[in-house]
Amino acid sequence: MPNITALWIKNPQGILSSTDAANGIVVQGNKIVELVPTGAVPTTAYTQVFDASKHVITPGLVNTHHHFYQTLTRAWGPAANAPLFPWLQNLYKVWARLTPDALDAAVRVALAELLLSGCTTAADHHYLFPEGMDESIDIEVAAVRDFGMRATLTRGSMTLGEKDGGLPPQSTVQDLDVVLADSQRLIEKYHQSEEGATIQIALAPCSPFSVTTDAMRESAKLAEKYGVRLHTHLAETLDEEEFCLERFGLRPLDYLDSVGWLGPQTWLGHGIHFNADEIQQLGAAGTAVAHCATSNMRLASGIARVLELEAAGVPVGLGVDGSASNDGSNMILEVRQALYLQRLRYGADVPVQRALNWATAGSAKVLGRSDIGKIEVGMQADLAFFTTDELRFSGSHDPIAALLLCGADKADRVMVAGQWRVVDGAIPGLDLPELIHRHTKHAKALVDLDAPVRQYA
Ligand SMILES: [Zn+2]
Repeated sequence: MPNITALWIKNPQGILSSTDAANGIVVQGNKIVELVPTGAVPTTAYTQVFDASKHVITPGLVNTHHHFYQTLTRAWGPAANAPLFPWLQNLYKVWARLTPDALDAAVRVALAELLLSGCTTAADHHYLFPEGMDESIDIEVAAVRDFGMRATLTRGSMTLGEKDGGLPPQSTVQDLDVVLADSQRLIEKYHQSEEGATIQIALAPCSPFSVTTDAMRESAKLAEKYGVRLHTHLAETLDEEEFCLERFGLRPLDYLDSVGWLGPQTWLGHGIHFNADEIQQLGAAGTAVAHCATSNMRLASGIARVLELEAAGVPVGLGVDGSASNDGSNMILEVRQALYLQRLRYGADVPVQRALNWATAGSAKVLGRSDIGKIEVGMQADLAFFTTDELRFSGSHDPIAALLLCGADKADRVMVAGQWRVVDGAIPGLDLPELIHRHTKHAKALVDLDAPVRQYA
């Protein structure tokens, strides 16, 4: 590729790579083409140099579970102090009022927050399609493209309403044939399977208590036909376990198995309440887990058994989860939360690097990707650059450890596919105050349950 400009990212303060890259890396086109060891200079002919001596570089962080639309219902009083089921029941009636403009603002807020915290690839689980919201995923695709990020956008679904014994109100559920037709449309229109893909589509019936058994089975068949991944919430709370035992006579994982989902094509949001046998079963199947530490603490759902899952061979990544249960989308802070929550379970010798690995290589594997999540030759040039010159880092020694232990909360620069998407802590071209203003108006209108829907556009 002699005609593509090569950039030497030189002399970083620290870099998260399993191979010596102490003197930086060379990026050409959308890929990492060389790691430069201690004291060396690149062998690749380069024409540009970026001085990274103030930066700690990690692979771009990968978020494996989110609900972007929920940024509209952060810290909302009626859902602020409740566990999952009542939390959901309070929020469903608000979410049922979602409009296309409100979703657009919500998605952009979530993406901006993720990107500014070092995230380059995000998965979103969008299962809310009330009347008028048929183009929800199309809205998400447009926003992801504008930000120049990568995303796995899941076509979620809810098909089991209150009248049939499910949790969500009828106005938020859809017929299965509508779900399947839209899933097929979205895969055919947007899904990229090639190396370096920016948009991938996955299918994601929401949870055992909001989706019919048919929807689970048919989604699995459609996913298999097109070679796309499957995603759902599982083993998040003991209420869910009770629901599955009562309705299906099965524990959640046995239910998942019974509908044809237990395999390497599937990743699960949360995965907290698995017993020792189930952990082995998951590992043998290669089914992955998105660990959502903050959300699990916020809703007091429990602590996922991450080290045991990994020991059994389960790919584990991290997710900030939806912003109604976090209530932020800050990916680097999420890594810190996961580190500390897992130390609480397993002891203080869970290393910082292991937590960073969950958020990078681990998360990439959860999303079925082998081209992102590591700083290695041939990988996509997705990189997060953090500075450590703020007050909170003063006196720190190990720059990589300092990211988590001192609580880094923003990236100074972010590169996706060789392109700078964050420069000096800002997203070029994004009018952030205008976005916050628009999003706030939508958020207020959404929770004003006495006012008609769509009073603000
Ligand atoms: Zn979730």
